[in-house]
Amino acid sequence: MGADAARPTLAVWKFASCDGCQLTVLNCEDELLELAEEVEIAYFPEATRAVVAGPYDLSLVEGSVTTADDAVRIRQVRQSSRRLVTIGACATAGGIQALRNFADVAEFRAAVYAQPEYVETLATSTPIAAHVPVDFELRGCPIDRVQLLEVVAAFLQRRRPRITAESVCVECKRRGNVCVTVAHGTPCLGPVTHAGCGALCPSYDRGCYGCFGPADTTNTRSLSGRLTELGMPERDLHRVFRTFNAAAPAFAEESARHAPHGEEAS
Ligand code: SF4
Ligand code: SF4
Repeated sequence: MGADAARPTLAVWKFASCDGCQLTVLNCEDELLELAEEVEIAYFPEATRAVVAGPYDLSLVEGSVTTADDAVRIRQVRQSSRRLVTIGACATAGGIQALRNFADVAEFRAAVYAQPEYVETLATSTPIAAHVPVDFELRGCPIDRVQLLEVVAAFLQRRRPRITAESVCVECKRRGNVCVTVAHGTPCLGPVTHAGCGALCPSYDRGCYGCFGPADTTNTRSLSGRLTELGMPERDLHRVFRTFNAAAPAFAEESARHAPHGEEAS
């Protein structure tokens, strides 16, 4: 245990990210008070300036590694954490910022910043697990509040989180949704996307765009065939797998299969 022997210590770390997943922690609201009774919030700059020195019993890590400093810092975080859980698409797959992995980062930097020479960055955005061992990866952009609470509860009860690796389709079936693709021909990545959101988009008659990243077993090639039958052009097939989880292997490979002629396919 960390500084307070009575309660395990919790630390929340930020790397390259938009803070949306940390906000999900704060959005726990009522549960946050209960959580604060069970764990000592020892390091969480988005919520409090108070800092309790490590080591920490549980670290939640948001964001990807995009700088040389990040690569050093994540190793320090790992060393000071008994358990390390990554939260969100940035931390588990590199996030939207991993689009640089398929392009020229210097070109991006020059397009965005007036003085790009002041911006130090790596050519890639990589998930935390590419740098240090990770005890559990929680998907989503942003993560789901209920799943987050389950992960923390599992840690406190010393058991594995009850989070399944099924696809969004299964969640749709449980909710009794009519399939948007079968009924309306709406393109949907639900068949290859990791569950966790409760089939949020199809519940509002929208197709899933894959913000939870690939399910554990996917057949992206088959889904692309169906999307082609529905009229999706190659250009859009290339782009539909290249969003928040662009660098997750299953999505990166499928996107590369539809890359425009001459583009680097990795
Ligand atoms: S996973 Fe999405 S919501 Fe979470 S930090 Fe990254 S961009 Fe923001
Ligand atoms: S349905 Fe798909 S895009 Fe919508 S919230 Fe769920 S995983 Fe994300």
